[in-house]
Amino acid sequence: MAQEIELMLSRDAHEKEFRQAVETLLSSLSPVLESNSRYGIEAVIERLIEPERIISFRVPWTDDQGQVRINRGYRVEMSSVLGPYNGGVRFHPSVSQSIIKFLAFEQIFTNALTTMPLGAAAGGSDFDPKGKSANEVMGFCQSYMRELYRHIGADTDVLSGDIGVGGREIGYLFGMHRKLANAFTGVITGKGLGWGGSLLRPEAAGFGCVYFAENMLARAGLSLKGMGCLVSGSGKMAQAIAEKLIASEARVLTLSDSRGHIHDPNGLDMEKLAFVKHIKNERRDSLEAYVEKYPHAGYLPVDPQLPYNPVWNHDADCVFPAATEYEIGLRDGYNLINNHIKLICEGSNMPCTAEAMALLTDKKSILYGPAKAVNAGGVAVAGLEMAQNNMRLSWSREEVDSRLKLIMNDIHATCLEVAEQYGQPGNYVHGANIAGFIRVAEAMLDQGTV
Ligand code: NDP
Repeated sequence: MAQEIELMLSRDAHEKEFRQAVETLLSSLSPVLESNSRYGIEAVIERLIEPERIISFRVPWTDDQGQVRINRGYRVEMSSVLGPYNGGVRFHPSVSQSIIKFLAFEQIFTNALTTMPLGAAAGGSDFDPKGKSANEVMGFCQSYMRELYRHIGADTDVLSGDIGVGGREIGYLFGMHRKLANAFTGVITGKGLGWGGSLLRPEAAGFGCVYFAENMLARAGLSLKGMGCLVSGSGKMAQAIAEKLIASEARVLTLSDSRGHIHDPNGLDMEKLAFVKHIKNERRDSLEAYVEKYPHAGYLPVDPQLPYNPVWNHDADCVFPAATEYEIGLRDGYNLINNHIKLICEGSNMPCTAEAMALLTDKKSILYGPAKAVNAGGVAVAGLEMAQNNMRLSWSREEVDSRLKLIMNDIHATCLEVAEQYGQPGNYVHGANIAGFIRVAEAMLDQGTV
């Protein structure tokens, strides 16, 4: 790594997620940087790794007992070179500046790959919505927005959901923004269908992930039909992945949450998935309830002493991590290889530790789809929601779905083309990194030193 970049990263040496995101990108870029000296002279990398703006603020709220509580809120506005900042908001106790910076950094290239006019940001708070009453969640969301609203707008910075931020939180955030701004604008995507939301927005990231997997398998002469699939998580991303996999006649064998995982050897069907949605979205409960209704399935609670993640230790063909960072460690990587899996499609952002990613991407028999490309369907339909809001139109589910499919097919083709062009045929990681980087870098050169 160039000395200047190392020096810049060392100023925030504790930011391990952000460092890993930067290193993963740089691991692909040598041939690109060598072929165009302007990228070096114009310090394109140095500019990309320094956020345009970091907003960090106090979020006070009052719990149901009348106790005032304080959380820390963030918004990292990473790059506006391709369009207004755009990216998710995460509410989870693990949220730190490093996590938000890495999410915002990844978003630059994801958004670039969609070819839509979208800049990149991410935000969130260490607030934990779990176990809070609806009133407490609303109070927190309103307080978060009371500070953030002055920094965002439909043409400035557009928010969407991520971990811990679903339809309920989006509603409270949007409501407070509308009141403060005295305007009903497209400042948030993932809105309710009755008030400006797009059909398929909640499912878009997960459906897009499965469309990308279908493309990868088709190129290898395979299809999802009959494939055993391990899916982690049971939130928005995991539910949508499971739904599309079931529709594609794949066998969804697992789902997980922060407390444990289920293994259903018969595979989930739409009825079982509807029950999972009921447990997670309405009861906001543990997946353990699944085995009470379907006793042939197994449930294993999380065991912090276990040196591997048991979700990844079942016989299967395809793997869809869709929960959170670092859910696949080195030991899990070996387990997946020993179980002869054929494909990994990263639904979650940075699901692999650096060691696990190196191991798995080195294994030529495994098709490896990186999150940057694979989960772009979420932001793609966010872009489509913004377009519908601007035109005061609502497209049908079929219209949105066919546009989403086209976008995912195009991203898949771009990754392959660019990987081939740079001497790495079939390498989706290099393809996504290089294609996303070039689009952003060229726009930066065009727009001068700002
Ligand atoms: P949700 O909050 O809807 O779901 C997250 C799921 O992961 C829950 O099942 C949760 O369990 C589980 N989980 C969270 N943290 C942990 C942990 N530390 N250990 C084990 N399980 C955990 O989030 P999303 O589905 O929206 O996001 C999942 C991933 O997908 C994230 O990486 C996100 O960045 C990525 N993503 C999401 C997009 C979207 O549009 N939603 C778009 C692009 C990427 P529990 O229920 O117990 O909390």
